[in-house]
Amino acid sequence: DMATNGQEFQQIIYEEPAPKVARIVMNRPGRANAQGITMTYELDEAFKRACHDDNINVIILAGAGDHWNAGHDLSGEDGPMPAPEQVVGLWGEYDGKGWEGYYSREREIYLEISERWRNAPKPVIAEIQGSVISGGIILAWMCDLIVCSEDARFRDPTAVEMGICGVELWQHPYEMSARQAKEWLMTGGWMSAQDAKDRGMVNHVVPLEQLSAKALDMAKTIAANNKFTMKMVKQAVNFAQDQMGRKASVDFGFHLHQIGHMQAMMN
Ligand code: ZN
Repeated sequence: DMATNGQEFQQIIYEEPAPKVARIVMNRPGRANAQGITMTYELDEAFKRACHDDNINVIILAGAGDHWNAGHDLSGEDGPMPAPEQVVGLWGEYDGKGWEGYYSREREIYLEISERWRNAPKPVIAEIQGSVISGGIILAWMCDLIVCSEDARFRDPTAVEMGICGVELWQHPYEMSARQAKEWLMTGGWMSAQDAKDRGMVNHVVPLEQLSAKALDMAKTIAANNKFTMKMVKQAVNFAQDQMGRKASVDFGFHLHQIGHMQAMMN
């Protein structure tokens, strides 16, 4: 049965916990689910499978272990480069000399793939516990709804620790107020689950032991609605956000992010 076969994946689990609901679990708890090349393309494959499956209406993105996601992992055994057969977009030459390879690699694996997931037609619910750091923030933001446990907390330390203006999918002011985004980036501090809810970044905060049940309950509620209508709701809201400048800010932020990388490496 394709439905619950996680065997072809190494770092994620694909399961169907209820009719019409797919649940993708980042399953690398020993590394706090850090996202390397293998996980990136397994996630892409899993989203593609769920979106192409007529029997799936809603997707949950969960993480195994104590922490949802510790960010990008380029030190892993799978190295920093996607294999040519893995690549989804048209940018390439990832091992190119100078900045060309760096730019095109980040464009493929952080910007374009994240946008692709954000624009997946079906509703995606993030089920978040523990810490979410740096690149993990992107994975949370690409989800349509976020439910998190009381111990969840969020941090983008890339400005204070790496000299860049924030994670690659640069939509910070669309997730909180402009001043909150500035403070969060300029201090590199933690945002608690409750702060995230107060800012409108997450939908619900629940006790940890209720987290999976809450996410599944939301998924079942939405999965019972007309699938095509839910797709239209998502497209409408995403389009409105982009008309408010989100996509332009993401693209501008990505390029400032690249300048930050260059400046940091030249120092
Ligand atoms: Zn980067």
